[in-house]
Amino acid sequence: MMRAFFIDKDAVAHWIRHLARSHTVYFPQRAGQSGFRFKPVGETTEIQFDRYHPTLSPPGKKLTPAEEPLFRYRKRGDEAPELVPILDRSPRILAGVRPCDLKGIHLMDQVNREGHGDPHYLTRRTHSTLMAHDCLQPCDAACFCDAVGSLGWRENADIFLTSIDDHILIEVQTPAGETLIQGMDFPVCQEVASVKARAEAQRAKPFGRQFHADLARIPTLIANQWHAPVWEKHVEACFSCGSCNLVCPTCYCFDVHDDFDLTDINAGQRTRTWDGCMLPRFAEVAGGHNFRSNPAARQRHRVKRKFEYLTERFAEGSFCTGCGRCGRQCTTGIDIFDIVNDLIDHAEANS
Ligand code: SF4
Ligand code: SF4
Repeated sequence: MMRAFFIDKDAVAHWIRHLARSHTVYFPQRAGQSGFRFKPVGETTEIQFDRYHPTLSPPGKKLTPAEEPLFRYRKRGDEAPELVPILDRSPRILAGVRPCDLKGIHLMDQVNREGHGDPHYLTRRTHSTLMAHDCLQPCDAACFCDAVGSLGWRENADIFLTSIDDHILIEVQTPAGETLIQGMDFPVCQEVASVKARAEAQRAKPFGRQFHADLARIPTLIANQWHAPVWEKHVEACFSCGSCNLVCPTCYCFDVHDDFDLTDINAGQRTRTWDGCMLPRFAEVAGGHNFRSNPAARQRHRVKRKFEYLTERFAEGSFCTGCGRCGRQCTTGIDIFDIVNDLIDHAEANS
């Protein structure tokens, strides 16, 4: 049975800085006036748990860098080419991960384990420890984590933290989490259930924005709306910049390119870079045909991926975690939450 501790916040902050002496620890830190970024923790880093605004880039992106070398290759004569994979085995701790982003990592685990699996993601993931932190209040007006079942998500955390007043409940959930607590003389919490009940009493109810229909009905409601006017309505102001894709914890499309070694034409390296389905040329194929040249078709594809296609493929309630990043970052305020609600309303009105 895994242990739990209930200690004051300063001691938890000290512990995280202590871990950073021997590990690369990422924790959300202030960046600019109101923003936060997951940055490496140092000796003097301010570790605070109460003020948080979702980071521009979700912590799961530490597992899939924007540009990533995949393998080096060399061909000798008639022999099969020699491929040398490039795998990142450096250990890291992602700390202060909020439930929506923890669920995002869980969803990316499903994607990257499917079929042959992605060795690059899975190698980083194997060497990553997750220390999550619960949210008892909505982080801002844009989030809708409760509506998509992300609020309180904890299953893939190695350590789960819950702030209650000036203390934090530390729940160790895995052997990897137990390793991080070794050497600390925290007193074991004997009243976990009552401490958790206190936290639950402090959780906002209702919590953030809610859809006009239950999550379980949304895939069916969206599936029947290929020609709904909602798709056109929500791209009237779209620049097709792809920001919504790039900040999303569950967007994972990429492109690859080969860089030849100019001193040895038989050798080189393959690299992948993020791509995004909202970018105009994403669906362009050989011959120049673009089977999603219209921005409304691209928006439809993005929304259906999050709420229909991937949910069916992986038997998950939603591939949108409700983090609100895409709406928050959109220059013209296009919000997937509004799109889904409009689709629900349109479906109900036409049923
Ligand atoms: S979207 Fe929900 S889970 Fe994510 S940071 Fe905001 S309140 Fe927390
Ligand atoms: S679609 Fe938007 S709200 Fe949903 S997970 Fe992606 S960025 Fe967050």
